[in-house]
Amino acid sequence: MHNFHCHTFLSDGVLSPIELLRRCEALGYQTVAIADHVGAAMLEFTIEQVTRDCDLANAHMSLFAIPAVELTHVPPATIPELASRAKQAGARLVVVHGETPVEPVAPGTNAAAVACADVDILAHPGLLSLEEAATARANRVFVEITARGGHSLTNGHVAQVVRQAGGEWVLNTDAHEPGDLIDRAFAERVLRGAGLTDAEVRRTLNDTPRELRRRAGRT
Ligand SMILES: [Zn+2]
Ligand SMILES: [Zn+2]
Repeated sequence: MHNFHCHTFLSDGVLSPIELLRRCEALGYQTVAIADHVGAAMLEFTIEQVTRDCDLANAHMSLFAIPAVELTHVPPATIPELASRAKQAGARLVVVHGETPVEPVAPGTNAAAVACADVDILAHPGLLSLEEAATARANRVFVEITARGGHSLTNGHVAQVVRQAGGEWVLNTDAHEPGDLIDRAFAERVLRGAGLTDAEVRRTLNDTPRELRRRAGRT
């Protein structure tokens, strides 16, 4: 199991970074990227704090811990600058909080995220357009299928439009508390529920994580 999007009490999650990592290790996760919500505020601070516990985990645990951020509710025009700042501050992956159907995310957020070279994952993008999905494919931005309630209302649409564009999905928990961490069987149910074929489910759970791990610096 791999998870490239979850939260700690550095934003609105309940666990410390190291407890989240230990609980994921105990559940058999091989990869965990901690992507707490940030804007211009808290960006460097959050990356610095998360990196300390990721370094600890990488030295002493069996999983690969990745310091990341989720740019959340920032004005779309600021995404390139903030994503670049996050990478300079040491974030190995940048997630953007996309236009979920359940929050007033600024229109244009999806378009700005998929156009940005420093963005790795567009999370829960809601009613993603075919054009945005095509740009995501061209720029190698992974589009998220989410296990999180609410955000997951548009998983079926996201799967369909990304398939049409020839792009790539990533499945994430977007966990905020221990009960949000899922097992492989549930991950497969979420993906099948989004309309993926058996081959697409295998690719999403096996190949996509390898690519994101490479991008974050580990084979
Ligand atoms: Zn989000
Ligand atoms: Zn999130």
